[in-house]
Amino acid sequence: MRKLFADVVLPVPVPKAFTYAVPAELEQEIVKGVRVVVQFGRKKLYSAVVVNVHNVPPTGYEVKEIVDVLDSAPVLTPQQLALWEWIGAYYMAYPGDVMKAALPAGMKLESETRIHLEHEEEADELPDEDQRALRLVAQKKNVTVQDLAKELGLKNPLPLLNRLISGHYLRVEELIRESIKPRTESVVVLHPSVCSEEAVNNLFETLSAAPAQQKLLLAYVSMAQPLKWDEPPRVTQKALLEKTQVSYGVLKACRDKHIFLIEQREISRLDDAEASTGATSLSDIQLQAYQGVISQMEQKEVVLLHGVTGSGKTEVYIHLIMKMLAEAKQVLYLLPEIALTTQIITRLTRVFGEKVGVYHSKFSDAQRTEVYNRMLHGEDGVGGNRYNLILGVRSSVFLPFTNLGLVIIDEEHENTYKQYDPAPRYHARDTAMVLAANFGAKVLLGTATPSVETYYNAMSGKYGLVELLTRHRDVELPRAELANTLRARKMKQMSAMFSPQLLGAIEQAIAKKEQVILFQNRRGFSPYVECMECAHIPKCQNCDVSLTYHKAGNQLVCHYCGFTTKVPDRCPACHSTDIKTRGFGTEKIEEELQLLFPELRISRMDLDTTRSRTSYEQIISDFEEHKVDVMVGTQMVTKGLDFDKVSVVGVLDADSMLNFPDFRAHERSFQLMAQVSGRAGRKEKQGLVVIQTSQPEHPVLSLIVNNNFKGFFNSEVEQRRQYLYPPFFRLIRISVKHRDKAVTEAAANALAELLRQVFGKRVLGPEEPVVARIQTFFIRNILLKIERERSAAKAKDLIAECILQVKGRDEFRSVFFSPDVDPY
Ligand code: ADP
Ligand code: ZN
Ligand code: ZN
Repeated sequence: MRKLFADVVLPVPVPKAFTYAVPAELEQEIVKGVRVVVQFGRKKLYSAVVVNVHNVPPTGYEVKEIVDVLDSAPVLTPQQLALWEWIGAYYMAYPGDVMKAALPAGMKLESETRIHLEHEEEADELPDEDQRALRLVAQKKNVTVQDLAKELGLKNPLPLLNRLISGHYLRVEELIRESIKPRTESVVVLHPSVCSEEAVNNLFETLSAAPAQQKLLLAYVSMAQPLKWDEPPRVTQKALLEKTQVSYGVLKACRDKHIFLIEQREISRLDDAEASTGATSLSDIQLQAYQGVISQMEQKEVVLLHGVTGSGKTEVYIHLIMKMLAEAKQVLYLLPEIALTTQIITRLTRVFGEKVGVYHSKFSDAQRTEVYNRMLHGEDGVGGNRYNLILGVRSSVFLPFTNLGLVIIDEEHENTYKQYDPAPRYHARDTAMVLAANFGAKVLLGTATPSVETYYNAMSGKYGLVELLTRHRDVELPRAELANTLRARKMKQMSAMFSPQLLGAIEQAIAKKEQVILFQNRRGFSPYVECMECAHIPKCQNCDVSLTYHKAGNQLVCHYCGFTTKVPDRCPACHSTDIKTRGFGTEKIEEELQLLFPELRISRMDLDTTRSRTSYEQIISDFEEHKVDVMVGTQMVTKGLDFDKVSVVGVLDADSMLNFPDFRAHERSFQLMAQVSGRAGRKEKQGLVVIQTSQPEHPVLSLIVNNNFKGFFNSEVEQRRQYLYPPFFRLIRISVKHRDKAVTEAAANALAELLRQVFGKRVLGPEEPVVARIQTFFIRNILLKIERERSAAKAKDLIAECILQVKGRDEFRSVFFSPDVDPY
């Protein structure tokens, strides 16, 4: 009899799949795409994914046997596994890193995973062993898989745990993610013991001695219409108490007497949205665009919808989705980040109701596993009622689609589509195109400001192009003006960071009861402190960057590693006490503006104020309801949000964007400023954008003021051609990291030298990056520029070989080499 072997991917960073022997009794069950339990390293157990079954015994190491199998059917489709493989090869990532990015935590158990109870309820229905495990987790709190195995006397606890996790009895710990607690409200319902007409009538009698309680009962009956005795309706506690004007104590007394039950019910913004109102009908111009997309898709795999902000791109998407769903095809709607989802979810749910599955990182792991499973098995476990529309961020390209017909990539130019750390450093837009191709599905890229790469592909005919260059109902695009801060500063006309032009515009808008958005780029100025005597600026002790000043707690924080310290009373260098904050962030803008206009209602939207989804939603809805006059924010305010009363947008500091040391700085500046301008004047009225700069003659600024995207593209693409950048060249950056500076430099030099022997002048560096030390690691970067025409696959093989050679030397064994393909 021939022996079977399985190649499995483990959630650990090793270069290849590992081969294990298939025990005879598991031969039937072990197929491509199921998860198995294997031992790896010292006695550690992992859940791993089978990617291949064959009968070639591996040579060079002793084969271990697979311990067990976790799934009775594959949990990964062939298309998913194909995508994993592509990502691994294209982005030079280990398969284990791809697996880690691709699966929700609940699907990746290992010995070190920490386990918690999902809820406190009894589980009498379970077998004894399962109950014993639950009791142990309850007692021990925060126990690892390994500990649990020991206590239970089980060699392999993973199947048991897998069962309890998918049954929602247990959950795995999520370290990084803060999950959102669902918002809840209290609801009141008749106690089951009094659920009949007779019982209620009797109660009325008995309650005549307690008039307040009687009032509650009466109010409940009148509100809970139609009153079905077998399933009495719930009314909100708030409404009940408001209507009766009795105190909560009375309601509690009723509960204790078993007249009412008080329950918690989850509420989401979605419930506020009107139920299925259907789609709006497209205007003539939008209809043309819609038909244009469809006809272009007959010839091209990818179509770019270049539509100015407010032109109705989202409406066009909605109609395309309807068409796909009617053909029983699935649609993936990608968004660059969660910040954008709120308004879109509401719009899509209105049209598509239950069919929308939302997948993003702020959801708990259990919720994400739920979406994953419903995609795979359907709601009923046998393929019924799968989601056919997924709205998600980057990682939703990893979901188990079965019948994908269309991928919509909204705001395709956004660089948050690119994962920076950890590996795999994949670009979700480019990955989604491969995903689509695996299904023979089409891709629609939508944006008001296409990336240079995408627009180049559209111009060269590789992608289809459809334009939508007027706003819906001919709302005018805003007028943009430059405010010369250099001159204003010299003439002492600046108030804090505000030019007279911007202040005037704000005052006028407020006088007319209109709203204002002020934008400050996060990457530009962040506030720091400086000694006025000797110009010393406190830096992070782990990273080569200045510490950022946070007013809360008077602290200095490193934005790369989180190092935090108090602002010193005296300068550490010269002991002067004259220490001032310099630069400005959103917090500072808010503060200064408040000083200038004490009456103004100001809110702030940035990473600090939007930690949870609810706080983000709160800021948006306050602004929508005009409880706030001015919103100050970072990048977040530039994103697809749609407010009606905004007439003025201010860009506080264009210079820091334009001068950022990166070949995409001009592209980013154009995109950011065009996007944030798009927030001004959405209905009836032309908006105004004021851009503050000390270099008003900068050519990119005049292109922005004239909203001349094509002009910008033409000049930018020439520069890219001249300086050998994308789309003409492919970039691969290799970061070399080590705790010792000399070792880092030596390793980087050795690698660069080796690469030069192969690639010659295509190798640049090693170079010290802007931030040359992060979390105690020194960093040197090597950049390769490879001609588009050359085989990228071959180049990557050669690079990997060079890295292996350098890493093979004793002195460089502990150095990290991280390749980043198409870096951003
Ligand atoms: P974009 O996605 O291009 O920024 P939107 O789809 O958000 O544009 O449209 C901008 C605004 O115009 C939204 O408030 C949207 O509801 C409205 N709108 C666009 N097209 C229509 C239409 N055909 N009928 C009614 N309202 C529309
Ligand atoms: Zn740091
Ligand atoms: Zn000093």
